[in-house]
Amino acid sequence: MIAPGLDVTRPGLADQWSDEQLSPKLKLILMWAGAWCQERGGVLWMTSIWRSVKEEFDIQRMILERQGMAEPERSLCARRLADSSLHPRWRAIDTRIPLLIGASIADLMEEAAEKYPYDPLRPRLRPCIRHIGTGDHLHWQAMASGPTV
Ligand SMILES: [Zn+2]
Repeated sequence: MIAPGLDVTRPGLADQWSDEQLSPKLKLILMWAGAWCQERGGVLWMTSIWRSVKEEFDIQRMILERQGMAEPERSLCARRLADSSLHPRWRAIDTRIPLLIGASIADLMEEAAEKYPYDPLRPRLRPCIRHIGTGDHLHWQAMASGPTV
């Protein structure tokens, strides 16, 4: 275990978790979420932390392809999505959906948003989002410290 209720699915992710480029706020949120899940019988498994823009582009392109989008729009959209991804900027972590006792994933997402608002000036943006594109998972994100990005 990396922390109570928090673990990685492969060794390379443990190195990324320790990398000083990883957002300290994001680490704090994940440690809180891991403990929250452990109290409810669950474990939060991290499946992806840092990704290159190229990897992100390939993932987005694959999702758009599955959705039936035609070239060349597919490449343009994938490029835009890859450029806006927080994974290459060390500000996002993906986890599996934890199995919880007496609580729901919606409870976890809601409490995370109350405790760690992504940006008080943009309440629409959340620290935890459920993504289904590449397989059902939770996407955790933190804003950069300093000016709004
Ligand atoms: Zn993600």
